[in-house]
This record gives sequence, structure tokens and C-alpha cells, in this order.
Amino acid sequence: MNAQKLSKRLETVAKFVPTGAVVADIGSDHAYLPCYLIHKGVASSAIAGEVVAGPYESAVGQVQKEGLSEKITVRLADGLAAIELTDHIDTVTIAGMGGPLIVSILEKHPEKLQGVTRLILQPNIHAKVIREWALAHNWAILDEEILEEDDKIYEILVLQRAQMELSPAEILFGPKLSTRKAPAFIKKWTREKENWQRVLQSIKDAEQTPEIEEKRAELIALIQLVEGVL
Ligand code: SAM
Repeated sequence: MNAQKLSKRLETVAKFVPTGAVVADIGSDHAYLPCYLIHKGVASSAIAGEVVAGPYESAVGQVQKEGLSEKITVRLADGLAAIELTDHIDTVTIAGMGGPLIVSILEKHPEKLQGVTRLILQPNIHAKVIREWALAHNWAILDEEILEEDDKIYEILVLQRAQMELSPAEILFGPKLSTRKAPAFIKKWTREKENWQRVLQSIKDAEQTPEIEEKRAELIALIQLVEGVL
């Protein structure tokens, strides 16, 4: 992967960036995504935010190497603190982290999202917590994608400001993903179902404590939910 040729995962994130967007990429080691977006003429300018010194230095070096210092500003900052209101950011991308970390970044500096109209989020795990956060904060799912790369399955959520309603199944599986049922979606949830069935089997003969009963009920509910979408 480099700034000209992204991974399939980051290329899919890039696909959802509107033309002319002013982008903040948070957690931008190497700044590949912002560099790619400028090279392709998609973003008009970008901020690359990174909280760790080493990746921040890599991002600075990459932006210089690509000759994009006029268009991309790299900032060493925690999450959305990388954004100044005078940047007029309208699109935020956060990719390659767990869902809970992405949510904690969104919650830490909510005022920085003031002018933002699109969030493109790519959680490596637990996309569910992002849908829960979106529901609670008046962001709606504009689109979703699921893909497999190097034996890993990734979800990408594209949010815009609007209200939405989601059922418990849609929160877990994604409203678009569970309608489209792409091969990666079937693979991911078949795997999860088999894991839950294995755990359920392993506690079948365990002592009947309230905790075990609760776990058993939780697993049965999850298995029923997944069987409803597969
Ligand atoms: N976004 C790139 C991608 O998808 O390929 C990099 C993903 S890398 C696994 C996660 C990056 O996010 C790391 O460089 C890490 O230092 C950075 N990071 C984690 N927490 C952060 C935070 N609170 N603010 C800014 N960057 C963060």
C-alpha cells in the first residue's frame, strides 16, 4: 500500500468521500488516505491527525515526499482535537481502529464536529457500538459496506446528519448490510453464529448459576437474531 495505491479497505473508505470535501483523517499513520484523496482530486484539502509521535512523523514525511504540504496539514493531536473550526472540515474519516475507540474519539470533542456533514468510519471490530452512538446523536446511516481483505472482514459505515430508527437486528448487523447480504456478510455472521453455538454447547452441562443462565439466554437470543438474517 502507498499513497497512490491504497488497500481495498482504505480505497472503500475513500470511495465515500464527496468530491471537493475538506477532510480530517483521524489516526492517520503515513497519511496515505489524505494523500490519495488529494492526488485523485477528490478532497480539496485535508488534515491528518495522529496521536502517537512515530506515526505522526511518518505522516509528516509522507506528505512532504508527495509534495502535498500545501494541501495537507499533519497535526499531533488526540482524536478530533486535530481539527480547528477554521479548517472548515466537512468530512471526517476514522479507520483501522476498534468501534469503541472510534466512539470514544467522537465523544471526546463533540464540538469539533460542528461543521461536519459526513462521517466515514471503518471499525475493525464492534461496528454495533458505532450504530448505537449514531442513533443517540442524530446521525443516520447513509450507506454501509462490508469487504474481505487478507482473511479479515471489515465494515465501513457512512453517516450523515439525520434521525433514523433501527431494530436490534439492524443495530447488530447493519440496516444496509443485512438487506444486501454480501458474501463477506454471510461469512462473518456464519462464523459468529458457529462461535456462539460452540460456547452454548460448552456451557450446556455447566452448573446452573444465574450468570450461566444469563449467558445461555444471551447466546440463544443472538443465535436466533443471526438466524433471522442469514
Ligand atoms: N487509519 C489508518 C488505516 O486505517 O490504515 C491507520 C490505522 S492504525 C491501526 C490506527 C492509528 O490510529 C495509529 O496510528 C494510532 O496511533 C492512531 N490513533 C489511535 N488513537 C488515536 C487518537 N485518539 N487520536 C489520533 N490517532 C489515534
